[in-house]
Amino acid sequence: MKVLVPVKRVVDYNVKVRVKSDGSGVDIANVKMSMNPFDEIAVEEAMRLKESGKVTEVIAISCGVSQCQETLRTAMAIGADRAILVESDADLQPLAVAKLLKAIADKEQPQLIILGKQAIDDDCNQTGQMLAALLGWPQATFASKVVLEEGKVLVTREVDGGLETLALTLPAIITTDLRLNEPRYVTLPNIMKAKKKTLDMFKPADLDVDVTPRLKTLKVVEPAKRSAGIKVPDVATLVAKLRNEAKVI
Ligand code: AMP
Repeated sequence: MKVLVPVKRVVDYNVKVRVKSDGSGVDIANVKMSMNPFDEIAVEEAMRLKESGKVTEVIAISCGVSQCQETLRTAMAIGADRAILVESDADLQPLAVAKLLKAIADKEQPQLIILGKQAIDDDCNQTGQMLAALLGWPQATFASKVVLEEGKVLVTREVDGGLETLALTLPAIITTDLRLNEPRYVTLPNIMKAKKKTLDMFKPADLDVDVTPRLKTLKVVEPAKRSAGIKVPDVATLVAKLRNEAKVI
């Protein structure tokens, strides 16, 4: 059984991004880039399924610039068997990525696709859902536990007031939540091994997918600076300020 894991190259979560002076976006020149943290969790989960003997092959896939090859090598160092890059310099929005992933899924015929629940750069939380719709497959988003059984997968997810467990008939789509697992550290020998693994490249045109952006960013602005707080001597003053100045009570 094959598992496909889409991994996105994003600005590292430790980097404090700066808005470009013309407000057209965020400056990512010379900034550290890494695998989207939710996608690391997805690769880790695929590896655990493989190690349990229920999965035979894990394929990592990324859509984007040529440097996404580094992200794919990291996925292969975690343990993915091979990788696919759909190379494009275009601004790839979730619908375009979902169409590219569908084209690859049609070729590879995986039984399971595990994505991150959201990319920490665009915070869209759309690609998995769009891919499920395009493929017509069942989906379970925000997975905190995954159990593979014969012909189906049981996915536990957090909902308001508790946990819900869904049974999906395979093939299916899962998106990962933070609580699903703790990804392993990548070791040097595995980084070396990953260099020798297969990495296939396609262009969107090879897959007959139009990646033209559908959404236009009008403006990106820094969040307003927070003004300094004050200390009040007692509760009575606090209540008075909340009532008369902030007018919130
Ligand atoms: P998003 O809908 O942009 O928040 O992304 C959700 C998930 O879709 C990510 O965690 C990835 O698993 C996958 N994804 C999004 N964009 C890409 C991309 N360019 N290449 C590969 N996977 C992607």
